[in-house]
Amino acid sequence: MYAEIVLSRATPQLDRIYHYRVPDELLNQLKVGHQVSIPFGRSATVGYVVGFTEKPGIHESLIKNIEGIKAEVPLFTENSLILAKWMAEYYGCFFISALRAVMPPGTAGKEKRTSPLSSPPSAKNSFPSPSLMERGAGVRNSSLTLTTHQQNALDSIIGSVNKGQKETFLLYGVTGSGKTEIYIRSIAHALSKGRGSIMMVPEISLTAQLIRRFKERFTDQIAVLHSNLTAKQRETEWMRIARGDALIVLGARSAVFAPVKDPALIILDEEYETTYKQEKNPRYHAREVAEQLNATIVLGSATPSIETYYKAQTGVYQLASLPERIDRRPLPPVELVDMRNESGRVLSEKLQQEITETLSREEKVILFLNRRGYFTFSICKGCGHVLECPQCSVSLVYHSDDKKLRCGHCDYTSEAKLICPKCHNASMGFFGTGTQRIEKEVSEAYASAKIVRWDRDSVIKKGSHEMIFAAFAEGNANVLIGTQMVTKGLDIASVTLVGVVSADTSLNLPDFRAAERTFQQITQVAGRAGRHHLPGKVIIQSLNPDHYALRYALTHDYDGFYREEIEFRKALFYPPFSRLINIVFASKNEPKLIEIANKIAKGLDRFLEGKGNKHIVLGPAKAPISKLRGQYRYQILVKAEDIEPARQKLFDHLKKANYPSDIRITVDVDPINLL
Ligand code: ADP
Ligand code: ZN
Repeated sequence: MYAEIVLSRATPQLDRIYHYRVPDELLNQLKVGHQVSIPFGRSATVGYVVGFTEKPGIHESLIKNIEGIKAEVPLFTENSLILAKWMAEYYGCFFISALRAVMPPGTAGKEKRTSPLSSPPSAKNSFPSPSLMERGAGVRNSSLTLTTHQQNALDSIIGSVNKGQKETFLLYGVTGSGKTEIYIRSIAHALSKGRGSIMMVPEISLTAQLIRRFKERFTDQIAVLHSNLTAKQRETEWMRIARGDALIVLGARSAVFAPVKDPALIILDEEYETTYKQEKNPRYHAREVAEQLNATIVLGSATPSIETYYKAQTGVYQLASLPERIDRRPLPPVELVDMRNESGRVLSEKLQQEITETLSREEKVILFLNRRGYFTFSICKGCGHVLECPQCSVSLVYHSDDKKLRCGHCDYTSEAKLICPKCHNASMGFFGTGTQRIEKEVSEAYASAKIVRWDRDSVIKKGSHEMIFAAFAEGNANVLIGTQMVTKGLDIASVTLVGVVSADTSLNLPDFRAAERTFQQITQVAGRAGRHHLPGKVIIQSLNPDHYALRYALTHDYDGFYREEIEFRKALFYPPFSRLINIVFASKNEPKLIEIANKIAKGLDRFLEGKGNKHIVLGPAKAPISKLRGQYRYQILVKAEDIEPARQKLFDHLKKANYPSDIRITVDVDPINLL
């Protein structure tokens, strides 16, 4: 018997399967997923068992023995192995990188420890399963009677779970329409059949309220994969899941790899959120990974991604709608303020007046602005020179706490300059608005304002999301100012005013999804107002008040927005009418980079020729962020009805071509971030 082994070391040359003989004493113990020590070249190394075979690819005399098992329990299941294989192939990463994604956190660190485990693996090896009765015991039922819409949606999902079909549902319902209640009940149903579920949220650290709700219902059946867990705690949770002690997993995108044995149900709440896509290797999307498993998938949102809604419209996904809020509570009225008439003010007269009234009623305000810092750029009023980071092609942001200019992409800082480095006149001016500036303006204008700022800087200072959230939700703070963190999931009864300080920051991004993102962000943050008995109100400030993303946001009209957006996507051959591959080249050596990028672009065109496959290869062109941490960046964007012929050949080419290592080439299949 021979084991198929993947090495723990990754290079293009080593990224393949090696065969080793299984010695007699390990025959009954060795399983797929075991970490083993093996001789390799002149030394010993670590590998992972991914399969067994009787017929190795090389002559038997050349095959060496496995030396020993290193970790007692297998570190991945057959299901996770399927996912890893698919990921390595689809996203073009090393098999070992894909395997690391499905193994318990911290595994890589343990590879270094040498002594192979000499004692035979203990009984922990076979995960004992609690009985069905024990499992059911943890669930607390809710006394709510579902609405007709909820009942219909739940019935379809439960029907799919019972049939054990691979099927994807879009649960399309406005905020407060009772989606979470459906998630909970479908999970409870799966549990009653002894089956597990995975529930994913965009950012687990922003989900305290949801975690509480799930723990109340599922008590000890649930494992929460929280980002604040220590490595040890994560491992413990992972083992609880692997043993079947917890059949329900709640976490962010990586929860899709939790070792739930044969999950019946996989849920992605707010599936359009960009955090479901990993922006480093393997560049997977949790929805695409989930779709490789044999499970019922539920995507829930009030603002689904255009691609997902298109699939629901064309019958690829099942559509389950919750068209109204529970108790028919109205969605808050939205008002648009044209900032061109506000003579440079940051907060319009209208928004100021609403803040005054809200605070005087002792209710709470959320102000959303997707920019950190105080001033977001500085420009010389004499020569027009803009201060940029010397390492990155982005404006430096002035931060008021330490009175320094900082880059948002690297850790470059400098003193705020009044003298222009180019024309040497004392004419530098500071412009643009970040969250710190709003904080200052509000604190000066309203004596009764008790402000909490929630952005990446303040989280670092205050220690955690929970503390900031608690100060606003339970403490006496009455104004919350923040970046996109404030758009997510907050459910606070006394919030009755939401202000979008500038809808233009996301609208102006050089990305074909800019309109979609803006619509989603505004609709989500608007959904934070007036969720309970007090009526809410939303004010949006913009210099582009006629933009369709804003017009439809005024009436919470997702369908209207979709109809207009889908035409634009069709006309410009963007998803869902094409699929994308984004290839980013980064290097300090610009001429060499351009040469290689040009060569690859030509090759791609050839791969996609013929077979009537409509396609466009854009670039190479400077990436929107054309320099990052001292490296020039260029990109090629492939748009094609069918990307398959290009995808595989591109990966093969990159593996063989062996381009110089000072040119970093990143391939992103189905990219979400095009900057
Ligand atoms: P969503 O996830 O769509 O935002 P939730 O499931 O959180 O909606 O429901 C919003 C609120 O309504 C919650 O407080 C929830 O407990 C309550 N709720 C949900 N379903 C019902 C129902 N059928 N009857 C009464 N209240 C409900
Ligand atoms: Zn920088």
